[in-house]
Amino acid sequence: MTQPKGTELQKSDFSPALIVIDMQNDFVSGSLAVPGGDTVIDNVNSLIDLPFKVRVATRDFHPQNHVSFADTHKKELFSKKEIYHPEDKAKEHGIEQVLWPVHCVAHTPGADFVPGLETTQFDIIILKGVQPEIESYSAFRDIWGRGETELPGFLKEKGITDVYFVGLAGDFCVKFTAIDAADYGFKAWVVTDATKSIAQDDAHFTEMASKGVKFTTTKEVQEALRS
Ligand SMILES: [Zn+2]
Repeated sequence: MTQPKGTELQKSDFSPALIVIDMQNDFVSGSLAVPGGDTVIDNVNSLIDLPFKVRVATRDFHPQNHVSFADTHKKELFSKKEIYHPEDKAKEHGIEQVLWPVHCVAHTPGADFVPGLETTQFDIIILKGVQPEIESYSAFRDIWGRGETELPGFLKEKGITDVYFVGLAGDFCVKFTAIDAADYGFKAWVVTDATKSIAQDDAHFTEMASKGVKFTTTKEVQEALRS
């Protein structure tokens, strides 16, 4: 079928990337399982099969003594602690960190992609939280916004206009990465039926919306990319 000219023009300005956030064993069935995390695998796979310009995966990939673990500080699970970037010697820019159970330790099964996830089509895999003292929820940069990953440069080099987010957890790594994507000037979309959150309320959706993130569904993305 011949496309109307207007649509062709529009399409040439549309260069979408898919970012699959932290679809790892510990977040699905392990120490920090997100309720219903396994139920999004099929939708995530169906999105991976669409003609995105690039497909990116992220993985939490922590050392055993990572700053985000309650064990590291001998504190209670899910308690909070102000943490500082290691170069912030004056301790001027603290971020309140939730202290998590030990999760996604590098080179352990908990950090592996969840079984059933289609992993052969990723162009790049971004590892997060690889240094003991640095925490990153966003795949763009650490929680203090000091260190950037290779992701923003990669997306810009590929001419990406729209970034679609799926995966876990909707109220942490998906949220912070999507907000950063909007901040870096991309159109940021969260695919709501291909993400799951720890929190059961809507506060994170409201926060994302207020920072320019838009929401869509697997079906709408399928229609946009197949048309
Ligand atoms: Zn982590």
